[in-house]
Amino acid sequence: MERTKCLIIGSGPAGYTAAIYASRANIAPVLYEGMQPGGQLTTTTDIENFPGYPEGINGFEMMEDLRKQAKRFGADLRTGEVTHIDLSKRPFVATIDGDTTIEAETVIVSTGASAKYLGLADEKKYAGMGVSACATCDGFFYRKKTVAVVGGGDTACEEAHYLSNLASKVYMIVRKDYLRASKVMQQRVMEKDNIEILFNTNTVGLFGSPAVEGAHLVQFKGTPEEKTLDIDIDGFFLAIGHKPNTDFLGGQLALDEQGYIKTDGFTTATSMEGVFAAGDVADPRYRQAITAAGMGCKAALDVEKFLVDNDIK
Ligand code: NDP
Repeated sequence: MERTKCLIIGSGPAGYTAAIYASRANIAPVLYEGMQPGGQLTTTTDIENFPGYPEGINGFEMMEDLRKQAKRFGADLRTGEVTHIDLSKRPFVATIDGDTTIEAETVIVSTGASAKYLGLADEKKYAGMGVSACATCDGFFYRKKTVAVVGGGDTACEEAHYLSNLASKVYMIVRKDYLRASKVMQQRVMEKDNIEILFNTNTVGLFGSPAVEGAHLVQFKGTPEEKTLDIDIDGFFLAIGHKPNTDFLGGQLALDEQGYIKTDGFTTATSMEGVFAAGDVADPRYRQAITAAGMGCKAALDVEKFLVDNDIK
């Protein structure tokens, strides 16, 4: 069976940065890019807060740059998804796309996180028929139409702002009486005439045939002012946070109560010796491209030290 000194799982800023560092340290890492090469940033528009890009950069382009940089130092970047991994003994054995296997002396898990849904049956019913968790992927289909964005964080504001430049009207459905987003993002949303924020509002269902034509909402739920409201919309966008992608680990690494991989102090070491975690999969707090890249760097340095300490050549 093929063996690598370092298997990197995932191709967001954490994975590619780990690949750059590990390649430059002559570790010859193998990186599997997963279902969405480049990760979540490939679906964002402009990234304005990554140091080094004073004019901002398109997310897809930035990930292409990171990818090229990893390749330049010889990282072995491969298409494929790690569907299972056996961490019970070293070398670890990873299964790719359910068939090929590879042995790894060390592993860096940088599989990121995926968009959360509300859990309504209607979200499944209308999947691809008006329900989306990515405004930049699907916004184009809603030009001059009416859409709703669920959530009150930075992502929701960013998506609502983006959609307001395409759609004629954007509702934001916010369950609290305030936006959690940063002041600058709130400001951007408030400045748009065609964004209407519905505070204290929850979605209980969607309607329409065959595609979404509206949403059933409840306002001031559980209070004397509780009332129902239906809005007519063509698109329903979820922006309520993300779930770390750890299912393939099958419970072999310790996770925190929200499902993020636990790391040891300021290192990227997980509960399993030789397995390290970087980026959104292990970061419930910061979840930024730059912090993910920083963790990827730390993970590669932790791998390098582990290989030396264990005399693995
Ligand atoms: P957040 O966790 O910050 O916000 C999630 C939002 O969704 C909150 O308003 C939350 O409501 C709401 N929500 C969660 N679950 C439900 C539910 N079941 N029903 C209704 N509403 C729900 O997630 P984000 O994805 O917005 O941001 C994640 C991190 O990424 C943050 O740290 C953010 O700052 C960062 N980020 C930064 C950006 C930038 O700097 N340009 C862009 C995008 C993200 P409640 O407030 O009630 O919990």
